[in-house]
Amino acid sequence: MTDIIQLLPDHVANQIAAGEVVQRPASVVKELLENAIDADASEIKLIIKDAGKTLVQVIDNGKGMSVTDARLSFERHATSKIKSAEDLFQLNTKGFRGEALASIAAIAHVELKTKRPDDELGTAITIEGSQVKSQEVSVTPTGTSVAVKHLFFNIPARRNFLKSDTVELRHITDEFHRVALAHPSIAFKFYHNGSEMFHLPNENYRQRVVHIFGGRTNEKLVPVEEETEVLKISGFVGKPEYSKKTRSEQFFFVNQRFIKSPYLNHAIGAAFEGLLKDGYHPSYFLNLTVDPKTIDINIHPTKTEIKFDDEHTLYAILRSAVKHSLGQFNIAPVLDFEHQSSLNTPYSYKDKRVNTPAIEVDRSFNPFVDDAKPSRRAQQHTSFKKASTASWESLYVGLESRGNNTKDDFSEVTFESDSKTESIFSNTSIETSKTTFQLQQKYIVSTLRSGMLIIDQNRAHQRVLYESFLKHITIKEATSQQLLFPLQLHFTPNESKIITDLKTDLEHTGFVFSDVTEEGITITGVPVGVPESEVSIILEQLISDVESDVPDANFSAADLLAKSMAKSLAIKNGQSLNNTEQEHLLNSLFACKEPNVSPTNRPTFITMTTDDIEKKFM
Ligand code: ADP
Ligand code: MG
Repeated sequence: MTDIIQLLPDHVANQIAAGEVVQRPASVVKELLENAIDADASEIKLIIKDAGKTLVQVIDNGKGMSVTDARLSFERHATSKIKSAEDLFQLNTKGFRGEALASIAAIAHVELKTKRPDDELGTAITIEGSQVKSQEVSVTPTGTSVAVKHLFFNIPARRNFLKSDTVELRHITDEFHRVALAHPSIAFKFYHNGSEMFHLPNENYRQRVVHIFGGRTNEKLVPVEEETEVLKISGFVGKPEYSKKTRSEQFFFVNQRFIKSPYLNHAIGAAFEGLLKDGYHPSYFLNLTVDPKTIDINIHPTKTEIKFDDEHTLYAILRSAVKHSLGQFNIAPVLDFEHQSSLNTPYSYKDKRVNTPAIEVDRSFNPFVDDAKPSRRAQQHTSFKKASTASWESLYVGLESRGNNTKDDFSEVTFESDSKTESIFSNTSIETSKTTFQLQQKYIVSTLRSGMLIIDQNRAHQRVLYESFLKHITIKEATSQQLLFPLQLHFTPNESKIITDLKTDLEHTGFVFSDVTEEGITITGVPVGVPESEVSIILEQLISDVESDVPDANFSAADLLAKSMAKSLAIKNGQSLNNTEQEHLLNSLFACKEPNVSPTNRPTFITMTTDDIEKKFM
């Protein structure tokens, strides 16, 4: 028998290895940005074309490379960052595997230009599919520029696997956010197809967060600071009332490296317990600093997971630090953390409308101006503040609730999640002559000639609304109601992009926009029947649906919009309906094209024949 094992040719091995490091253009963005940071750059420029499918280029002003290093940097396992196995436990750099450039060069066309500060001239190298095409002396600024073109040119299967430009660009933006947040003292510029997406100067952490996530962010940040022997925490959590339906504003950085940790995420959730509505997630931007010896970042090739020596301790510290901050800034009752808010809701409050906590925002305040002269409102509030007011506090004026009656503050916070609880005394009068009745404020029961009909009120209404929205969008004839005052909503650039993409369809449902920018939108009209107070919830839900439903080939914006709005506006379970409403819903459901299923394909009603019922009595 002959031997059958063969060594793979280099280029095949390289391509296979590349698959691990480079899944999509965003992976290239991450590796190149990290190399620039490891090179101690103070300014980094990211240039993207066609969501990275045509070009990903990163230009830095870092320490550059010598001629030899430039050539060596493309070899597998070539790194300047570790020299021995021990170094692995003392990592202060992002990279250490020496794999990224080799992998990228195996599956793309790469142009490298680099020069060290003391060198007169630099080096330019071009590589295509691991083959060096040229190497020259070059006149180039200090630092390094790496341009990656035609990604996956030699692996068509991978190229075809890439998603739409919108999706790939979103991945790139996510990577950019993570790197830029971890390094506020580095200036970043980011261009896509020639237009500037971000321009971030060297700034402090709060400014960086606000710059990335848009103007409204400043007022929602609550600082978290804690320093213990094992862990230092700094950063911000979002106030509970700004929690989101998506997890898009959740960031942990450990030693300036973005990580995902469901366990630590849980610690934050625990700190927010009782303060969030169902289905909402807190925002957080937290930097954790630990001794590099106590973590292992080696367990995952793309390095967003890490292993901590003592996770339980970190959990406890994190949870208490966040709780403390929320308490200290009057967002949660400090002494009453373990209290079940639902248990001490006085009956007289049951039917009261919920007051949204009053937040005053000093719109004239500019967070980027040194706060030598406190604004007028800040002065008004000084009496509430402790003597040790740090300068950041003046950045979000008006955190305190309007009244200084703590009892009121307490009820404002704790009632938020109770808003939908109906009073146990509320009674829908039962009149026997009617043909429908409501069961558990959830089902509508009616009789059929052959037996009984039970309708799920929420799903049925979703179906009715869905078909009506879809019709309006397609025939473009919805009517809108004019708002008395234009409604301004702030979004992150990513979120605004989603709204912009859906703008025409939204207009067909009855929305009227007077302004759509990166910072947010201004609405002057809404679809008839949509309460103004619901508008921001509807749009947030829509954004969250678009984000989680990664659009593919058979994605229909109109369909998604109709589904999302139907979901937001449909009668909820727990809502009592009078007989006219019940009958109206029943009739509208059976006037639908597809009354049997909800827009998400779940049954809207069931029937029970007299035979079925008779069997039950046997
Ligand atoms: P790693 O970052 O894991 O060391 P890479 O393949 O990303 O591996 O890079 C290989 C080497 O090339 C690095 O160790 C570094 O010495 C050098 N290098 C890469 N990018 C740059 C840059 N932008 N500036 C200076 N040196 C760089
Ligand atoms: Mg690297």
